[in-house]
Amino acid sequence: MGIAPTPIISDTSARGQEDGPIPLTAPTLHEQEWRYLKECLETGWVSSVGPFVDRFEQMVAGRLGAAYGVATVNGTAALHIALLVAGVQPDEIVLVSSLSFIAPANAIRYVGAWPLFIDAERRYWQMDPQRAQDVLERACRWRRGALYHTRTGRRVRAILPVHLLGHPCDMEPLLAQARKYGLVVIEDAAESLGARYQDQMVGHLGDLGCLSFNGNKTVTAGGGGMILTDQAAWAERARYLTTQAKDDPIESSHHEVGYNYRLSNLHAALGCAQVERLDESLAAKRQIARRYAQALASTPGLTVPSEAPWAFSAWWMTTVLVNEAVSGMDSRALHRRLQTLGIETRPLWQPLHRSPAHRRGVSMDCPVAEDLARKALCLPSSVGLTDSQQARVIEALQRMRP
Ligand SMILES: *Cc1c(COP(=O)(O)O)cnc(C)c1O
Repeated sequence: MGIAPTPIISDTSARGQEDGPIPLTAPTLHEQEWRYLKECLETGWVSSVGPFVDRFEQMVAGRLGAAYGVATVNGTAALHIALLVAGVQPDEIVLVSSLSFIAPANAIRYVGAWPLFIDAERRYWQMDPQRAQDVLERACRWRRGALYHTRTGRRVRAILPVHLLGHPCDMEPLLAQARKYGLVVIEDAAESLGARYQDQMVGHLGDLGCLSFNGNKTVTAGGGGMILTDQAAWAERARYLTTQAKDDPIESSHHEVGYNYRLSNLHAALGCAQVERLDESLAAKRQIARRYAQALASTPGLTVPSEAPWAFSAWWMTTVLVNEAVSGMDSRALHRRLQTLGIETRPLWQPLHRSPAHRRGVSMDCPVAEDLARKALCLPSSVGLTDSQQARVIEALQRMRP
């Protein structure tokens, strides 16, 4: 199938000139986005309530097979509320992937809890279930029906696996551990909408799933997020907390300190139009990943990512590993080199156990995350990336010389 549907908008940022700059992940927008946004303006539904919000929630939840979807202003807010809804208390511990964008660790701190960073496995770069099990079994103790981290004395309450770069975590062993110790599982599926784990939708494997619709994600709402769950009471509580914990539609009375985290109808309208094209966007992402893999598999100094046999990756952003010993250039030098050619790439995030912002979290050794973060380079992977743009990126990578 064709890689990029022709955008009807005259020029989206993903495109531009064929020899112009190639962005990392830019949104591809179509006529339907205009149509829905116009509908908002014409009907006056532009703010935090409106028909597109409901529709967006139903579309996304329906797509994932979740009973409820609660839209939020962004993915970080979705994580924050999911942690509250799950009952994570101040000073408790949440296991989270070390190799990740910082949002989930920040959200853990918003509720006063502490992240305990779990290393990545080397094959697919996701949270290593064996490392999680080691921590739960060896560094924790079961006491009066709850699990406590031995060294800090803090209760372990939840596991927050981050499905990185579109590829799912190996959920089965993580879910088994969670069941064994009574932990809540909150999936950060922000980068992996549309991915499947053993034929089940990512984001609907744990107790709560969180999505992001930021501008760089596969589906964008301009900004936005969503909490997914099958539990009516949790969905209701998420809705309550995201709308200032308002108790009555007429009387402004509040039993709790809530948040103004609801998504606007304008954003939801954009999101609806984008979700309608999810299958095409996924096909484009997967084709981009396949092309990179085929073209770069035998390029010395580069390692292309692979898809687990139990996975259907959404390939949000194709990321390669740069082996300096072979290529003569590390990932940062290659990043700068490509920049001079108008090709935008980006290293992965600083592993969170190394982040000064989270130095007070429960630290573990995460050598794999560190190694991957040192070597990884994310390649242009916009849904609208054209064949000739991708050919330019591939050629530049094949020709790299120190
Ligand atoms: C994008 C992202 C989020 C949420 O980001 P927002 O910008 O708040 O929508 C959360 N976790 C991960 C792993 C992400 O990549």
